[in-house]
Amino acid sequence: MLNPPIRTVLDRLYDRYGRPEYSGPDDLLGTLVRTILSQNTNRQNTDRSFARLMDTFGGDWQRIAEAPTEAVVDAIEIGGLARQKAPRIQSILRDVRREHGQYSLEHLRDEGVDEAQSYLESFKGVGPKTAKFTLMYAGGMPVFPMDTHILRLCERLGWTDPKAGSRQAHDFMEPRIPQDEHYAAHIVMIRHGRQTCHARSPDCSDCTLLDLCPYGQNHS
Ligand code: SF4
Repeated sequence: MLNPPIRTVLDRLYDRYGRPEYSGPDDLLGTLVRTILSQNTNRQNTDRSFARLMDTFGGDWQRIAEAPTEAVVDAIEIGGLARQKAPRIQSILRDVRREHGQYSLEHLRDEGVDEAQSYLESFKGVGPKTAKFTLMYAGGMPVFPMDTHILRLCERLGWTDPKAGSRQAHDFMEPRIPQDEHYAAHIVMIRHGRQTCHARSPDCSDCTLLDLCPYGQNHS
């Protein structure tokens, strides 16, 4: 069992932020593209670049796949790393169309979680975090994506090694979070990272986890 116990930490975070309910499935391909756009940028710029991409090409995946890459770069520029993201998104769209005859990833709902994740990770630019985000948010699958806030919180609580890579951290934490709480745990841990356990100057004196947290006790 981890120390501090996951059960205690999650219950404290639910007490503080409420326990979020999963809002239901969404389009898997759109969520994957949106998640790629979210890499290395904030939520506001992700929303803007996704909206601009959809507006520019009328929400038509085929037009995005076949457009000059420069036009896609222009559409998503506000989200940053556009020269990297645009060709990756176009390549994924073309691969999906070639392999499945349509611009859709809905077939992943009929596959096991491991198969679905491996398939998504076979695309360039899609690592465990992006694959799990897509499968959890759009597919409602039992995976636990760890963003920068969750990785930081797990390290400070002493659950994961700061030197561990993202894949190792995911492999370690996912089986330890109760399956029916993956979504709720993901949301409250991000919320805690944004509101209290900041990267710089965490607000430990106002933290509901202070008595459980080695980092907080050493730094307050
Ligand atoms: S005590 Fe400080 S470091 Fe620990 S979880 Fe809370 S805010 Fe983060």
